[in-house]
Amino acid sequence: MLDKVNKWFGALHVLRDVSLNVALGERVVVCGPSGSGKSTMIRCINRLETHQEGLIKVNGIELSDDLKALDDIRREVGMVFQSFNLFPHLTILENCTLAPIWVRRMPKKEAEELAMEYLTRVRIPEQAKKYPGQLSGGQQQRVAIARALCMKPKIMLFDEPTSALDPEMIKEVLDTMVSLAETGMTMICVTHEMGFARQVADRVVFMDRGEIVEVGAPTQLFENPQTERLKTFLSQIL
Ligand code: ATP
Ligand code: MG
Repeated sequence: MLDKVNKWFGALHVLRDVSLNVALGERVVVCGPSGSGKSTMIRCINRLETHQEGLIKVNGIELSDDLKALDDIRREVGMVFQSFNLFPHLTILENCTLAPIWVRRMPKKEAEELAMEYLTRVRIPEQAKKYPGQLSGGQQQRVAIARALCMKPKIMLFDEPTSALDPEMIKEVLDTMVSLAETGMTMICVTHEMGFARQVADRVVFMDRGEIVEVGAPTQLFENPQTERLKTFLSQIL
């Protein structure tokens, strides 16, 4: 999926020969120190950032300047950010139906049924008529997940979805992500929630200074780190 990807912000080399293949149905957790390029890598996958060298393919389609290809890719990729990015002036239900109606051209009634199905799955169907400002952070993040799922993506990208939440709300969002993983969704999650990584990740990727330094099963990485960089990182977060 990513093959020798390089990216610079001006003179700053932020992704260095990053190669990563994610199989259908696979769950990958990405961790690493602040500034190591985790968000940039994730954002390159749906072209919120552009890379300068290397190849990125999603679902067999190569990311390029071709807008049709980009459109096709964005339909298949759902993204959830640290900040929930809900539209404050739309209800929870409207937040969830907006893209299916306007991008997927789904009839309104069908979009609403689908939205209720996903809001039920993230266990907040009773909030559908409220506005984002009336919900807790954890609830808003679950709406953001439901909203992304309403586009029926093949891949879900998460960029530190729990790091802006109060501790008591982290678990409810992680539980939602675990049950999503159980449905077989392909997921790439940037997170430092190592419990989550142990529970659902097929592989953990450790990034440092723009490079993928280690990749492996969670137990292998956490219990038997091969590099000083990963040892140092683990000693800081655990
Ligand atoms: P964090 O854990 O803090 O979220 P990260 O691993 O996600 O960090 P990135 O956000 O990918 O790191 O940033 C990688 C590097 O690129 C950092 O040095 C950052 O300062 C730089 N960077 C990120 N976005 C931009 C931008 N839009 N313009 C210039 N530099 C940027
Ligand atoms: Mg980041």
